[in-house]
Amino acid sequence: MARFKNIDSLGALTGKRVLVRADLNVPIGTDEEGQKYVTDDTRIRSIAPTILKLIKGGAKVMVCSHFGRPKGDVIPEMSLEILAQPLSNVTGKAVVFLNEATGDGVKETLDAMEDDAILLLENLRFHEGEEANDPDFAAALAANADFFVSDAFSCSHRAHASTVGVANILPSAAGLALEKELLALEEALGSPLRPVAAVVGGAKVSSKLDVLTNLITRVDHLIIGGGMANTFLAAEGIDVGSSLCEHDLAGTARSILAKAKEIGCKIHLPSDVVAAKEFKAHAENRVTSKEDVQKDEMILDVGPASIDGIITDLKDCKTLIWNGPMGAFEIEPFDMATVKLAKAAAELTTSGQLISVAGGGDTVAALNHAKAADNFTHISTAGGAFLEWMEGKKLPGVEILKA
Ligand code: AMP
Repeated sequence: MARFKNIDSLGALTGKRVLVRADLNVPIGTDEEGQKYVTDDTRIRSIAPTILKLIKGGAKVMVCSHFGRPKGDVIPEMSLEILAQPLSNVTGKAVVFLNEATGDGVKETLDAMEDDAILLLENLRFHEGEEANDPDFAAALAANADFFVSDAFSCSHRAHASTVGVANILPSAAGLALEKELLALEEALGSPLRPVAAVVGGAKVSSKLDVLTNLITRVDHLIIGGGMANTFLAAEGIDVGSSLCEHDLAGTARSILAKAKEIGCKIHLPSDVVAAKEFKAHAENRVTSKEDVQKDEMILDVGPASIDGIITDLKDCKTLIWNGPMGAFEIEPFDMATVKLAKAAAELTTSGQLISVAGGGDTVAALNHAKAADNFTHISTAGGAFLEWMEGKKLPGVEILKA
């Protein structure tokens, strides 16, 4: 039996009205003629299989989502209308947009539209009740549906009316994308093949303290890179010069290192680094040992010897979880360590030696930059939800779908 209620567990779909929670909070750009367009439609594409499965089963589908942060006000620039055409493009179905998410208009529009059309509801956050998980708003959302399907992992760390409230009222299930995501995450951290390695990089320790604290208890190798590695090096008495570093977290960093040692989690910190005097692309730089960083230098990347050592250890691992870049990957050549490690992980995955799961906005951008993302076992586009999962927290929008 599925650990999560899935679409099949809902039973017969014929004639049923299904409310699908999507994450259509996608990036929007403006073209030369001032027209707005979707710059990355990954999240829209991800919900297409669920919608098509529901329609094929005979259900009438309405899609709801938040978009931006209107905080309970109706802000025309944050209308979801702009997503109707992109949703039609990825599903091949007609999309009817309604400038409401609740009320009789929803029922009337559903009744009037073709069976295989999709109803796109207006931005949920135009209502205060959405983020407040107001029972009345949840009831109003549920009133026009027979079933609720969530396909928005990236929103499942929030207990909102459209992630939890409505699931308390209607028979509910995980959509295909959410189900796939949950299975991949379970495989990576729930009951993984060992040894397990985690890569945690990015700017600051402070934003990932709970991630680090949880991971040392769950993984065999914790690879720390990015700006946060500087905080750990400084905590060990290394002079990191002008590097990004949270000196006030030295004590915390030392206790994480001590705890990891006690429970047998091997911590990998860089022994050589790439240092530069300016934070800009192609800044003059040098590879040096961690002990030799000068006062006016910044560590902007993990050094080549350290990365080679990490890759050697990764070859013995069976599972990898990755969040955060190894260096300032947006500015060349400080993308070297991130790219090298990403390519190695992608190759090990392709050859069947490694299960690799990565997530978080910057991480996806970094793995795309390395042209490695397509070869990872699973890439999560969720930001906050992925981090909370790495922190070992229970996600309310996932818990409510447990079978
Ligand atoms: P995060 O959002 O915490 O994953 O941080 C990602 C950001 O960390 C990226 O914009 C990187 O450029 C930045 N970053 C990674 N390594 C360094 C470093 N050594 N010094 C400064 N910034 C870094």
